[in-house]
Amino acid sequence: MIGIGVLRGMGVTFKTFLETYPWGRGLLRALRIPTTNGLVTVEYPDVKQQHHERFRYFPFLVYDQTPDNLRCVACKICEQECPPACIHIIGPAKDEQGRPAKAHGRTYPVEFDIDISVCMSCRICVDVCPFDAIEMDNQYELSGFDRFGQMVFNKDKLLKPNDYFQRIKPTEAATVDARLAAKKK
Ligand code: SF4
Ligand code: SF4
Repeated sequence: MIGIGVLRGMGVTFKTFLETYPWGRGLLRALRIPTTNGLVTVEYPDVKQQHHERFRYFPFLVYDQTPDNLRCVACKICEQECPPACIHIIGPAKDEQGRPAKAHGRTYPVEFDIDISVCMSCRICVDVCPFDAIEMDNQYELSGFDRFGQMVFNKDKLLKPNDYFQRIKPTEAATVDARLAAKKK
């Protein structure tokens, strides 16, 4: 029916209005309606709002157990697909004979940089990676004064353990873990 969407939208706005006040949250709880914190001003940086699991900022590289066990094989698909071209990869690494070197049975990048001052957090790199090697982080306190020294994240700075991914995004990490376990079978 025409107008239902408008009414629903007004309902969401009214619920958010109620959630903003303690009495409103009490009323919604009494009516057994799930509540959030509504629209509130958070006194950042003294108070930090809990962000949703799906909140994303810049990507990081995932490793298993030890940093040399990174999942990235330097296939460069993410580098080619990144819309603002802010990923820069050198590799895969070569051995003394010029053949692809391997760590934990996989090739790996010599260098992997992301210019986070250019990254637009689109998540395309995550979606195109065939190895679940790159995921979106939720760290946002990353400002600095040095454009290249602090805003271009190198491999060391990008590498984070799978435990970290499981902690910040448990639902997504569980899906990825299950997919990787199924591939190993
Ligand atoms: S992060 Fe994924 S897509 Fe990008 S180079 Fe590594 S393995 Fe390939
Ligand atoms: S999130 Fe988007 S812009 Fe940022 S590195 Fe990945 S593909 Fe590039």
